[in-house]
Amino acid sequence: MTTPLVIAIDGPSGSGKSSVARGLAQRFGYRYLDTGAMYRAVTWFVLDRGVDPADPDAVVTLLPDLELVSGTDAAAPTIRVNGTDVAGPIRGDAVTAAVSLVSAVPQVRERLRQLQRETVAQAVSEGTGIVVEGRDIGTEVLPDADGKVYLTADPEVRAARRAAQDADSDHGSAGVAATAESLRRRDALDSTRATSPLRMADDAHLVDATHIDLPQTIDAVAAVVGLEPSSAVTGQEE
Ligand code: C5P
Repeated sequence: MTTPLVIAIDGPSGSGKSSVARGLAQRFGYRYLDTGAMYRAVTWFVLDRGVDPADPDAVVTLLPDLELVSGTDAAAPTIRVNGTDVAGPIRGDAVTAAVSLVSAVPQVRERLRQLQRETVAQAVSEGTGIVVEGRDIGTEVLPDADGKVYLTADPEVRAARRAAQDADSDHGSAGVAATAESLRRRDALDSTRATSPLRMADDAHLVDATHIDLPQTIDAVAAVVGLEPSSAVTGQEE
């Protein structure tokens, strides 16, 4: 079996996609692309320009002014909008509350899909693998990915893990109940939008992380996509 180079990981909010995708990329020496961060960065730009995220026409008029650059080093991913490092602000509550409105705009999706495909093509042309995580990677962005995973976990577990993560961050946690409500709202919007809704690709492997921890989830994902433990470049660093 040939080594899978392009790995797509999709799933609902708070399923642990980012930690799993990044840990997997680090373990196998792959690049890492967080497409959620890209949608968050566009949302940050919309809010920074004082535009209403609920007005798709106004959002679209901003796109020619947007330059978005994602750094794909799994050990230190970066995201910049017109030269500004936005890695911190894109995790704030204002962006989280508005991102599903902005990500539903077809022209936004088209622009980011193109950027995402270019990033993958670049990695592959350099002979490196890449792990790409999001909502529509296996279905729309990379339908020919070598390995596809749909990562999920029970809603209560997702909310508890996300609230704990937020409590460790600069912007603080809103508590488990408020986090559960925010995840529920985003999942509902992301799954019902007309363009590229969140859904599991027919050929994706389902991994349920409800009862397993992060290293075990990375093991499970590596196994279903056919990444051999012998090709790992690092130990259990995650
Ligand atoms: O993964 P994260 O929770 O940071 O994603 C933020 C938002 O970006 C999601 O709620 C969704 O609206 C949008 N998104 C998307 N398609 C992707 C990745 C993220 O629509 N591939």
